[in-house]
Amino acid sequence: MMKTDLHDLSVAQLAARLAAREVSSVEVTQHFLARIAQQDSLGAFLATNADVSLAQARAADVRLAAGERAPLLGVPLAHKDIFVTRDFPTTAGSKMLENYRSPFDATVVSRLASAGMVTLGKLNCDEFAMGSGNDNSAYKPVQNPWDITRVPGGSSGGSAAAVAARLLPAATGTDTGGSIRQPASLTGITGIKPTYGRCSRYGMVAFASSLDQAGPMARSAEDCALLLSSMAGPDPDRDSTSLDLPAVDYAADLTSAGASGTKAAPLKGLRIGLPAQFFGAGCSADVLKAVRSALAELEKLGATLVDVSLPLTELSIPVYYVIAPAEASSNLSRFDGVRYGHRAAHYTDLTDMYKKSRSEGFGDEVTRRIMIGTYVLSHGYYDAYYLKAQKIRRLIAEDFQKAFTQCDIIAGPVSPTVAWKIGEKSDDPVANYLADIYTLSSSLAGLPGMSVPAGFGAHGMPVGLQLIGNYFREAQLLGAAHRFQLATDWHTRKPSGI
Ligand code: GLN
Repeated sequence: MMKTDLHDLSVAQLAARLAAREVSSVEVTQHFLARIAQQDSLGAFLATNADVSLAQARAADVRLAAGERAPLLGVPLAHKDIFVTRDFPTTAGSKMLENYRSPFDATVVSRLASAGMVTLGKLNCDEFAMGSGNDNSAYKPVQNPWDITRVPGGSSGGSAAAVAARLLPAATGTDTGGSIRQPASLTGITGIKPTYGRCSRYGMVAFASSLDQAGPMARSAEDCALLLSSMAGPDPDRDSTSLDLPAVDYAADLTSAGASGTKAAPLKGLRIGLPAQFFGAGCSADVLKAVRSALAELEKLGATLVDVSLPLTELSIPVYYVIAPAEASSNLSRFDGVRYGHRAAHYTDLTDMYKKSRSEGFGDEVTRRIMIGTYVLSHGYYDAYYLKAQKIRRLIAEDFQKAFTQCDIIAGPVSPTVAWKIGEKSDDPVANYLADIYTLSSSLAGLPGMSVPAGFGAHGMPVGLQLIGNYFREAQLLGAAHRFQLATDWHTRKPSGI
């Protein structure tokens, strides 16, 4: 095996080479660090530290040499810069946290580290995970490796671009309203947002706590399954909303999606629901075409397609953009220049210090959401906006449960268009919000969802198929995606020049 091809290997393949001692974790780490340096102009990374990564790789090599075998041992990854890390700075993509160093690791980070994964650095993201194009990062935009004039999606845009450009085999992301699925879709990689509470939120810089959820981003469902098995699991002492369900070996479960499946029709018995609202005029024709041919492929694998309805889909946009800013305005109040964050150099008194520190530290989109959130929570407007939004949120969740009486998995597009040009929507927040139409409703309901590469649309840009499962059914989603990936090769395609 040529060392230069290491970046084309999946997590599973890399782990096998490491276990067979054909290559060391130090060699793998050096290879990826060199690629990251070469491709710096993509803007995917906010921090690297070769000394730290190589020390972790050497520790993994010692474990491998001692005969230890574990599915992720010695394999590198990087974390979205929303997870706090002791060994790297954590900025959440914001000037507010420039040079901030956490005294502890997020639970997801420490779990993957104990599984033996090597951290290559921190990945660029929209400021406090607010955005859909990664153009809200206070540091730099991220380019889409399929066309560097286009966005990679957001807010986990650095994670998506890095995986697509093969700067690493896998990364972590977070999804509050689509931030794992949408960038995965726009860069042609695979990502899963688990059921709310599956992964601990401890050490994830909070955006909207009732929605935030961590998940893996990689090239295939198999690799996502390997990572999720280590990331997920209860964390009762540190995140009381983490689900009290034992960790699952998702990788072992990959073939169980269609209970009555046969070799010729592995998805036989699986009913896939197509919500009329996901296939309407709001979705561009190129995306619909790719999604429909992916659905035809799933049918060939034995799945049955059924029509379902999610009548409140359109309302998910106003509901989310009331609830998420409300929670953000509360979560972000801690950044006051005293307890955390940037402090203005010049001020007259305490109030002036707060005002200046916050106006200097937060970017426009974050400021906009803090203002909206404060408004909808204020006396006199709380009932009209926040409470109303919470009631509709419940109805949206109930609609999903009705749909799941007719089907096992819901499918549709992830994003109504392929990746747009960098800057195209930067001055139009509403245009950004509208692009979240297919991801927000399942986030509001707390359901697991994933994006699976499904072909290409306009300008040769990737299109993702969204699969949404019922609560705790990550294994079923990953299994269906895995069967699809055994029959298709969209997830193996790579941008030219990579
Ligand atoms: N695009 C959505 C937003 O801007 C979702 C972000 C996310 O999931 N973190 O809020």
